[in-house]
Amino acid sequence: MRAERTAGALSAEQAIDLAGNRIAYRLNRSPRRRTIALLIDDRGLRVAAPLRAPQRAIDDLLREHAAWVIRKVGDWERKRPAPRLWVAGEQIMLQGTPLTLEARSGAGRPQLEGDRLLVDAALDAPSIESAVHHWLKQRALAHFTARCHAYSAQLGLPAPAVRLSSARTRWGSCHAGGRIRMNWRLIQVPQAWIDYVAAHEVAHLRQMNHSPAFWETVALLVSDHAARRAALRREAHRYLLP
Ligand SMILES: [Zn+2]
Repeated sequence: MRAERTAGALSAEQAIDLAGNRIAYRLNRSPRRRTIALLIDDRGLRVAAPLRAPQRAIDDLLREHAAWVIRKVGDWERKRPAPRLWVAGEQIMLQGTPLTLEARSGAGRPQLEGDRLLVDAALDAPSIESAVHHWLKQRALAHFTARCHAYSAQLGLPAPAVRLSSARTRWGSCHAGGRIRMNWRLIQVPQAWIDYVAAHEVAHLRQMNHSPAFWETVALLVSDHAARRAALRREAHRYLLP
């Protein structure tokens, strides 16, 4: 069992047998919670519980909702991308467009050639994985910086410093002092959604809140921001490497 502690909360990997199905889940205990809740997110089943909830109460709730849990975990497994082997022929996404990995001897660092991403044939799978991640992050930083700077110029603001983040649950953040962070994973989703996140963070340079004035500023940059935001929430998982 792997456990980690953050700010009084406790997280652990657990499993339960439900009607002959072994169901793995993450148990998050938090001092702020009063009730036990079952949730499915992009990483699967999660149980949120008060710090001292007895394991028996958690097991009871899972059993009580066994049919729902089995169905939802099944949906999640079907939706989840296939495990990646990092071999030629596999696809990765760049700005919503699939690229096929192709091994070529002497390719050196990954190179884009049409809709193929050439990787060095001498590399083993873990080395291909890290080379492709590195390549995606480089593309991400250059691309996000260009988009944020275009938007800040549009608002007549000084160009912000743009950095990458790798948070699991956040696409972007903006700090007082004009520093923007964008999640490198975003480079995989369609351009319109990347632009929405860039516009959102740049708008925070003017409004450090989510007030109506903030959303008016976002709309100056991306008029259909609500639709893009909804699509990003609903569909991003289809584009992301696990
Ligand atoms: Zn925001």
